Amino acid sequence: MSAQRKPLQLPGGDRLLLHSCCAPCSGELMEAFVVAGIDYSVFFYNPNIHPLKEYELRKEENIRFAQKHGVPFIDADYDTDHWFARAKGMENEPERGIRCTMCFDMRFERTALYAHEHGFPVMTTSLGISRWKNMAQINDSGQRAVAPYPGLSYWDYNWRKDGGSQRMIEISKRERFYQQEYCGCVYSLRDTNRHRKAQGRERIQLGVMFYGDDPPASD
Ligand code: SF4
Repeated sequence: MSAQRKPLQLPGGDRLLLHSCCAPCSGELMEAFVVAGIDYSVFFYNPNIHPLKEYELRKEENIRFAQKHGVPFIDADYDTDHWFARAKGMENEPERGIRCTMCFDMRFERTALYAHEHGFPVMTTSLGISRWKNMAQINDSGQRAVAPYPGLSYWDYNWRKDGGSQRMIEISKRERFYQQEYCGCVYSLRDTNRHRKAQGRERIQLGVMFYGDDPPASD
């Protein structure tokens, strides 16, 4: 096992709203909050995830883990029409580009609104623990989201440090979480499949990979 994280201190308040993108990314944060005695709730607002089957797989996994820890889970809207409207014209943007900035903004704006309306003084997100993501891009969106609410702050903690990235994998294997193979939107699914095709690999199959399993023979 990797080293334990130094005890966390929640800055700026006594309740935390965690925007969760999926169980593998939020698992390490959730366990760290439990250990630190931080009062938190999980907010699942990810209308970027398509198709519906993939969305349900990721959400159900996260619900299961929240229930295991007795943590409140807020199942927010799946307003995909709104997401596609905001993504219009950005369909061919690369990952980490302006479509992703829009995607983070949209998800965090809703998280911030919920935090404001329900008395959470601090919000954060699990998105930054993934090494595929640009942490500065995520944190910029987080700061923009809380700006309209003077009583709300965004916690920009680097979840990758102190062994966080390694524990994320360990927890995912221990829990045998569903292992998604693309970021989430139809455009990332398309681009990942194009990349695989260029490498002579099979297309992504939804719902077949779980952490701790052997990779498919074709990979
Ligand atoms: S690649 Fe990921 S972060 Fe970027 S727009 Fe698609 S779902 Fe959102």
